[in-house]
Amino acid sequence: MNLTELKFDNSGLIPVVTQDARTGAVLMQAFADAAAVQRTLATREATYYSRSRQEQWVKGATSGHTQRVVSVTADCDSDSLLYRVEQTGPACHTGTYSCFHQPLLEDQAQQDALDGTLERVYATITERLATLPENSYVARLHAGGLDRVLKKISEESGEVLLAAKNRDRAELATEVADLLFHTLFAMAEVGVSPADVVRVLQEREGKSGLKGPKEVG
Ligand code: AMP
Ligand code: ZN
Ligand code: ZN
Ligand code: ZN
Repeated sequence: MNLTELKFDNSGLIPVVTQDARTGAVLMQAFADAAAVQRTLATREATYYSRSRQEQWVKGATSGHTQRVVSVTADCDSDSLLYRVEQTGPACHTGTYSCFHQPLLEDQAQQDALDGTLERVYATITERLATLPENSYVARLHAGGLDRVLKKISEESGEVLLAAKNRDRAELATEVADLLFHTLFAMAEVGVSPADVVRVLQEREGKSGLKGPKEVG
């Protein structure tokens, strides 16, 4: 496949879909002219054409959020391109990982599966607390005492805010998981279920101008 075989539109542009080569996520969609495609192939830096500014645009030139191009593929009829990239930082100029973050239709099945996860982890914790098996982390946490776990929760909170500050997505996901797990443990020890928490959230849902957690007495 050759650059001259690409079908550019009347403005000399071709749509480019950009994918994270590591995660498979779709990061953004933009346009390229022939020169931008050529530059991308030559330098392996994702290069586009800005329709608003009417100029070539090397992704990350001002933000530093560059894209190292792993492969460039044309579609079946050669009128659009796929850049697979190693993304540095957020792909979207709004600071989000992917540009596609404005849902018109949500994946309900995926949402339900995620909802169930907290309940399942909580159920496992309560089961371990009831049976205290050897080699169980929950049993060890229980033996160490609640105060120790509360200190752990405070440490994990610190790690969450550090990861968020650094905009480190992988680290933030890990630290939020740590925080949630130890919070679920404390809830199980005290006897509060995820359903109790969901009930509180649902009571607040849809009430505008509601006080934030810090302001709630
Ligand atoms: P950057 O290429 O990241 O240095 O950003 C330079 C400019 O390109 C920004 O100010 C935006 O106008 C635009 N831009 C950057 N990333 C995107 C994107 N993913 N989608 C649309 N416009 C973008
Ligand atoms: Zn096509
Ligand atoms: Zn964007
Ligand atoms: Zn942690």
